[in-house]
Amino acid sequence: MKIIMLGAPGAGKGTQAKLIGEEYGIPHISTGDIFRMNIKNGTALGMEAKGYMDQGLLVPDELTVKILLDRVAQEDCKDGYVLDGFPRTIPQAEVLDRELDGLNDRIDFAIDVDVPDENIIRRMSGRRACVSCGATYHIEYIRPKQEGICDDCGQELVLRDDDRPETVGKRLSVYHEQTQPLIDFYQQKGILRTVDGTREMEEVFAEIRAILD
Ligand code: AMP
Repeated sequence: MKIIMLGAPGAGKGTQAKLIGEEYGIPHISTGDIFRMNIKNGTALGMEAKGYMDQGLLVPDELTVKILLDRVAQEDCKDGYVLDGFPRTIPQAEVLDRELDGLNDRIDFAIDVDVPDENIIRRMSGRRACVSCGATYHIEYIRPKQEGICDDCGQELVLRDDDRPETVGKRLSVYHEQTQPLIDFYQQKGILRTVDGTREMEEVFAEIRAILD
């Protein structure tokens, strides 16, 4: 099963994508996580991506598409995957479609986790991410067992540069301009499913499971 998660930054699509990956035994692929890993490791790709990310801008399609296509070509993706944060533009979606077409394959579902902007701003300022593995938490809604420490790997939790309030406004306007058109794109293909992302994480996931099952 091949799934795309859509939704504004902070809508909770990463959390849901992780749950889907675990439930259905498919890799959870986050282009944001791949960029952050590259930044942490000081690679050339990471340095280039960081300049855009810190300003709340999208990394250029050319760079992003390449890392995504390399990732989905790996052996563990042959039975499916859940994409979190890709595609974020119509050209990215078209490249992915063309690539899958060439393999006689297609995306099964695009799931839009719908959350109004007001909720997003509140959520993102409370979000905390692990400096090491990238797992995300929230100071009110998804608390780690020990404050400030990642449940998965025991490393420190921080407010990501791109989750700072001044950057969030920019990310939301970039989302509305460049990413929201994908909702119509997948609607026209008949594979869009919309879930109300304002509810508890477990309720949102139950609805997603009902769609995928
Ligand atoms: P995320 O963790 O998905 O919110 O991504 C964090 C940042 O990484 C975004 O604000 C973008 O700067 C960059 N990024 C992640 N995925 C993409 C993508 N598909 N296209 C362009 N930029 C991306």
